[in-house]
Amino acid sequence: MQKIPVLLDIHTHSVSSGHGTCDTISDMARTAAARSLQILGISDHGPRTAGSGGCSYFRNLLLAERKRFGISLLYGVELNILNEKGEVDLEDSLIRSLDYGLISMHHPVFQSGTASFNTTACINAMKHPGVCFLGHPDDSRFPLDYERLLAACPKYGVYPEINNASLMPAAYRTNGFQNSMEILSLCKKQKLPVLLSSDSHGREHVGDMKFIFPLLEACAFPAELVINCNPALLYRIITKKPDADVLPGLSVKDPATS
Ligand SMILES: [Zn+2]
Ligand SMILES: [Zn+2]
Repeated sequence: MQKIPVLLDIHTHSVSSGHGTCDTISDMARTAAARSLQILGISDHGPRTAGSGGCSYFRNLLLAERKRFGISLLYGVELNILNEKGEVDLEDSLIRSLDYGLISMHHPVFQSGTASFNTTACINAMKHPGVCFLGHPDDSRFPLDYERLLAACPKYGVYPEINNASLMPAAYRTNGFQNSMEILSLCKKQKLPVLLSSDSHGREHVGDMKFIFPLLEACAFPAELVINCNPALLYRIITKKPDADVLPGLSVKDPATS
């Protein structure tokens, strides 16, 4: 399998996530441009993560520049799933005003339970408008029923992520390799597109998917199911308009729905 072209990375964190980096959105955009990405998405942690930005930070992103250093910028959020009901840590109207939401389970905000419990929590969280991606569903500290979870994805227009940070040798998540392989093989069978993400905290790993490529190759994952190769597919996903012919631009929100 040829190395696939990664044109976008939309799970990244700036200084506003409150941990791990002092890098600003501009610092990250400059790096993304140097690495020949077309689109950079900033998805700082929701307010329940210690030290992260509050509602006013996310509200002010609506006014942030859409182009820096020639890169198209998207502004989203990595929401914390709070409980089995799938409640998350930003109100729906604010999530909808952003370009996209990822939903993730993090210690200590989410109290992990059985695979059935965690899967129900994720599926309920998918129902929030503006949620488009499942963040790092690859961590055995939060076991999931992948068949049930991925079967629910098309119903809500939510897509799973393969997370490079989960595959790093020093990763604190567990069983990232085995779980990512299982997700990829089910997505291939189901023809469900996946999002590749660096989950970079700051500039260092922006656009870096190097630990993901061997997995794609090992399961002969088709490039046409990789969202990062297809900005138009990304825009259809985040606008929840499966048939739209939307190309990257300065604004992706339909004023009638946002
Ligand atoms: Zn996360
Ligand atoms: Zn993250």
